Amino acid sequence: MKNIIILGSTGSIGVQTLEVIDKLKDEFSVLAISCGLNIELFKKQIEKYKPKFVCVKNSEHAKELEGLYPDLNVLYSESGLIELAKLRAYDILVVATSGIVSVRAVLEAIKNKKTIALANKETLVMAGDIVTKAAKENNVLILPIDSEHSAILQCLNNLANPYAKRLWITASGGPFLNNSRDEMKKFSANDALKHPKWNMGKKITIDCATLVNKGLEVIEAHHLFNFDYENIKVVIHPQSLVHSFVEFIDGSYLAQIGNPSMHIPIQYALTYPKRLEGIESDSFNLFNKKMEFFEPDYKKFPLLALTLECAKLGGVMPAILNAANEAAVYKFLNGEIKFLDIERIVFNAVEKYDNIKTPALDEIFEIDKRVRSDLEK
Ligand code: MG
Repeated sequence: MKNIIILGSTGSIGVQTLEVIDKLKDEFSVLAISCGLNIELFKKQIEKYKPKFVCVKNSEHAKELEGLYPDLNVLYSESGLIELAKLRAYDILVVATSGIVSVRAVLEAIKNKKTIALANKETLVMAGDIVTKAAKENNVLILPIDSEHSAILQCLNNLANPYAKRLWITASGGPFLNNSRDEMKKFSANDALKHPKWNMGKKITIDCATLVNKGLEVIEAHHLFNFDYENIKVVIHPQSLVHSFVEFIDGSYLAQIGNPSMHIPIQYALTYPKRLEGIESDSFNLFNKKMEFFEPDYKKFPLLALTLECAKLGGVMPAILNAANEAAVYKFLNGEIKFLDIERIVFNAVEKYDNIKTPALDEIFEIDKRVRSDLEK
């Protein structure tokens, strides 16, 4: 039996992780969960999974939970997440928080020699060099909970296959794949939230519409699999059946195929390197499927090109882009700006700040904060 901690248990990935665990009851138990502000769902999860520790965002919710569940160890804020990461009696830290709140907790779990199942993109986008270096030094596995990276891991069969030459990351193309720039100008948050294939959180769904998400995934792949950016390619595949490819030196390509469901990557990260019967077993029908692959249109989706450019520059550029993008996406979701204003804001931010080539963690957090607060002005 493996003990699991889930950071971000009430979000889309957190909830689906618990669904996977429901199906594999004999394999996993939940030691701790954390949430942001969705306290009503969190209480239901506490009652169902009976964790020994929980962490919430603020002290008011912590007090409320202490009153309701006197035997529960209740922590709060980023320091609470770090305390969870330091616990001894667990095997896997599932990182399903959004934003940057869990980065320090991940580093703590790595020091604690725990396997990381990583759904949070910011961890590698902002601090990939620092996190992967720590993981290497501590001999810790970082297993991706992202369909593309899980596909690559499954095709590589181990994390450093010497015969793998290129990674091909598939992208559905998002809801605006077949719209013109003029049409994109008019789109509202509701239009952008209608993703054709995947059911995900709001922030990432907008990132799929701008294709920023794919650029961030290239950065993740670079850190997870130690590939140069020249050898990581993006391919548009609207049907979302192939979740990514690995190209080998002899010209052979391996693909991982299955339903577009996060249950598979979540389960693979939890059971790695084993496979078990799970929620998605027998759910996929291979008959009458069509698969298409196209080169991305970088002119129509300039944020994809910009994200890849920032990736190659390295240093704090990915953190700057990420912070500006996140702030802009929330403005868009709140109806404060138009869809294409996201681009304008992110391009401006990338122009505005200087790079720091090999930043310390504090410098990364500092620039992140500065970009966000400048955009609030
Ligand atoms: Mg993905």
